[in-house]
Amino acid sequence: MGRGYVRFWDPEGERFGIPTWPWKLAPAHLKTRDQLVAMGLRPHQPVAGQILWNNKKLGLRRAYLFDIALAGPPKPRSPGQVASLEAARRKRRTCPTCGVVRDYTISTALKECTPCADGLAAAA
Ligand SMILES: [Zn+2]
Repeated sequence: MGRGYVRFWDPEGERFGIPTWPWKLAPAHLKTRDQLVAMGLRPHQPVAGQILWNNKKLGLRRAYLFDIALAGPPKPRSPGQVASLEAARRKRRTCPTCGVVRDYTISTALKECTPCADGLAAAA
């Protein structure tokens, strides 16, 4: 075991404030957010612990751990949320100048669709 093993071994969180393990030595039921996402899950609970390790280039690195038993699938969106997201998307594609809903998002720099910005809206 390297020095990191001793330095970061703190399952009770006495030194680091939350339960801490060295890289690869965390209990199997604790996963990082990336690991949960790779399994199609999302953390629904606060952080359960952390792993710490020293990266030669980046220095001290940390990854928070979540209890897999408390994780679940991403929260489904309600029909209302879906509708408001769709409305927001549609609004971003609607040109405020000519009112046409485009198949692209209106540029925030131009603030109107390409034909309007080019002065071609009347012809389009
Ligand atoms: Zn336009």
